[in-house]
Amino acid sequence: MRRVKALVHLPAPESIQVGGNVLEIRLVSALGADSGVKGTCCLGTRIIELDAGMNADSKTSTLLHELIEAINTVWLAGALEHGDIDRLGEALFQSLQDMGIEIEWEGTPPAPTGLSTPNPEPQPPS
Ligand SMILES: [Zn+2]
Repeated sequence: MRRVKALVHLPAPESIQVGGNVLEIRLVSALGADSGVKGTCCLGTRIIELDAGMNADSKTSTLLHELIEAINTVWLAGALEHGDIDRLGEALFQSLQDMGIEIEWEGTPPAPTGLSTPNPEPQPPS
């Protein structure tokens, strides 16, 4: 359950800088059609690819995962195991959600938020 009263919607990022690398973010149709992969990060081409068919939350969590993959390579010399990258990505995604921060992916309906009817202020007992 989120503890914020309003959501902050960020526009979908076109790129993200990691160290000296500006990584372009691309949505790719059927990226994981054969492999089941949801995203990729290549520092050689400086491109992060995300499967365009995912819902908004999955796109955001996959972007965070691929971002941490890049951070692990650029800033940490590959010190993190892949399981650590998975857990850090999920932890960051949970924190963003808890703060009410969402990315508005173009053409992707936002996930249900449960915030459309704000909780009324508690009333004193009558
Ligand atoms: Zn990975």
